[in-house]
Amino acid sequence: MHNIVYLGLGSNEGNREELLEQAISLLVEKTGNLMCRSSIIESEPWGFVSSHKFLNMVVALETSLTPTRLLDITQRIERQLGRKHKSSAKLDYQDRPIDIDILLYGSRIIHTTRLTVPHPLMLQREFVWRPLLEIAPNILWPLTGQPLRDVIEK
Ligand code: ATP
Ligand code: CA
Ligand code: CA
Repeated sequence: MHNIVYLGLGSNEGNREELLEQAISLLVEKTGNLMCRSSIIESEPWGFVSSHKFLNMVVALETSLTPTRLLDITQRIERQLGRKHKSSAKLDYQDRPIDIDILLYGSRIIHTTRLTVPHPLMLQREFVWRPLLEIAPNILWPLTGQPLRDVIEK
């Protein structure tokens, strides 16, 4: 139980608050201890057009799961909460009841076919970095070792 991971949660379909809470409950049941949770913010869809706004938040978990195993479980939870569609290309975003992205896994840098960590678009998405900095204001950006807040400011 020694890896701290930060997950980005988003929902823009169905009972969004309820889906976020269900996702957190299932994450705690299947992956580890909840260390911290950010406030929930509302955001416009990113990369696609929809009239359904998102609720977004970030949670910190302590887990002993490997990154791949964690991804298996987050994807299973997405399906369990009604996620059907997978974004196969980056012009392919759609409404979704729940999305769980692995933002940071400790300070590790991971590039596999299934997983890129840190999440490659997190610096460009205010709905990700703002709640992350709320709960981890001093966290370091693994790629450079600088404080994330300094990386965001530039
Ligand atoms: P985006 O990644 O731009 O936020 P998305 O969340 O809509 O898009 P999904 O359909 O949820 O994309 O996931 C597509 C694939 O992304 C997954 O099957 C997974 O293998 C891969 N992936 C790569 N890196 C990550 C990561 N850090 N967290 C979650 N999934 C990832
Ligand atoms: Ca996502
Ligand atoms: Ca995702």
